[in-house]
Amino acid sequence: MSDTRKITVATCSLAGCFGCHMSFLDIDERIVALVDKVSFGRTPLTDIHTLHACDIGLVEGGLCNDENVHVVRHFRQQCKILVAVGACAINGGVPAMRNRYGLAECLEESYLYGVGVADPQIPSDPELPLLLNQVHPIQDAVKVDYFLTGCPPPAEAFLELLTAVLENRAPQMSYALRHFD
Ligand code: SF4
Repeated sequence: MSDTRKITVATCSLAGCFGCHMSFLDIDERIVALVDKVSFGRTPLTDIHTLHACDIGLVEGGLCNDENVHVVRHFRQQCKILVAVGACAINGGVPAMRNRYGLAECLEESYLYGVGVADPQIPSDPELPLLLNQVHPIQDAVKVDYFLTGCPPPAEAFLELLTAVLENRAPQMSYALRHFD
């Protein structure tokens, strides 16, 4: 990849909490050094709503419904390098805590029991995405090129990833950049 042109970065959030996106923003003023080298496509961080082909796609969150699967497959098609960002994308993370229970049990516990409303109901609008029986990591649906571990990964890990791609080398994730919490 030439180092004379900008690389384009897009991001998306599936079953996550946006904490990984917030950590990305913790790059803070160091992003100034990247301004001439990186441009952003569709991401919750911009007002760009159309996904175009990009160099790096950062995916936060795992797969909890059929819409997540559709989104990540489309994202994969548009990204040269796809990165699973954070525990939720890599192993399902917090949402995957429901995997030890049946889907019906989860829905009943969430919507019918103890909610304190007069007529509790499990949502059934056909426009709602269909929940998967279990929460899956994104690599169950698409090929992943890099993994940024952590909940969330530190800002320095994002910086190293972008810098490595700009320098046309493999990212060097030191032990300090590999979080498992
Ligand atoms: S890995 Fe952690 S910070 Fe990132 S989306 Fe999941 S819960 Fe949020």
